Amino acid sequence: MHTITIDERWCKGCRLCAVNCPLHALHMAERFTKRGIHPPELAPKGRCNGCRLCELLCPDFAITITEAADVHL
Ligand code: SF4
Ligand code: SF4
Repeated sequence: MHTITIDERWCKGCRLCAVNCPLHALHMAERFTKRGIHPPELAPKGRCNGCRLCELLCPDFAITITEAADVHL
């Protein structure tokens, strides 16, 4: 299982992440951040599979995908 974290302090609202997500899992929110831009957020019916493309594409390193560690007992 993965988690996507978007750091709105760094996001400049360029849309690269949302436009290039192969699964259309991100869309730009209507609300504004403190920087006065629309940030990306997970789309209601998005099916993010954790491919990390958005993390790699973001010019401002605002997206982080983390994988929950497998637990081997
Ligand atoms: S690519 Fe990065 S800076 Fe651009 S909208 Fe997405 S999170 Fe924000
Ligand atoms: S990790 Fe992949 S599927 Fe998920 S939002 Fe980013 S580009 Fe889309």
